[in-house]
Amino acid sequence: MSGFVPDQPDANVRPSPNFGARQEGFEPDMLILHYTGMETGMAAEDWLCDPTSQVSSHYIVHEDGRVVQMVRESDRAWHAGKSFWRGTTDINSCSIGVEIVNPGHEIGYVDFPDVQIAAVIALCKAIIGRHNIRPERILAHSDVAPGRKVDPGERFPWGKLSAAGVGHFVAAVPIGGGRFFANGDCGKPVEALQSMLALYGYGIAINGAFDAVTQTVVAAFQRHFRPELVDGVADMSTIETLHRLLKALQPASS
Ligand SMILES: [Zn+2]
Repeated sequence: MSGFVPDQPDANVRPSPNFGARQEGFEPDMLILHYTGMETGMAAEDWLCDPTSQVSSHYIVHEDGRVVQMVRESDRAWHAGKSFWRGTTDINSCSIGVEIVNPGHEIGYVDFPDVQIAAVIALCKAIIGRHNIRPERILAHSDVAPGRKVDPGERFPWGKLSAAGVGHFVAAVPIGGGRFFANGDCGKPVEALQSMLALYGYGIAINGAFDAVTQTVVAAFQRHFRPELVDGVADMSTIETLHRLLKALQPASS
């Protein structure tokens, strides 16, 4: 397969055969960030371009900040899998996927180097500019697939991205005492928590029962917005951070 002109001017191009057309009427209005979860960046790049893998993403950002584009932004890359956000399930059709090289939790999760994060920020800003993506639609893979995915994980510096104008984020409320809710609890406060998570966009039933799904979604929320402690327990810091996040939402354009 021949190359293409990159959407991102400073990116190298290595075309992946793993893509299709976006669903009719869908344009990218989300940005999904991942980690690669493989031994090396080269192994991940090879895998994303291997026709047998049936996975891809638009971009991969290596540890040294090198950016490689594998799928054109107009095409549908195969990075999100079974996902959900704000009523939408075909996240691949409405998103741009960026894989960030990191071995991940199963192999040896490490901090993301500054030079890599600087490249991620520059790439995200350019993508946001090209597609007018709203801050709250820049999400982790774990946000849209909480039961299956944990990437890019709690070491990913969302606060740094936010300070550079990428994403929607508020400083987490410090962890302290107070009431908390955990697996097995039920009642109005659990229902209120589920409502807030669903309002933000997470796929969660509002049934008033703190069940396994609720625990998983709370953990996904923490991984992105309260990374100091990811335990799936809705403590006051978690609930108050979620509160502040919702309050900080700009009125949605419809
Ligand atoms: Zn992922």
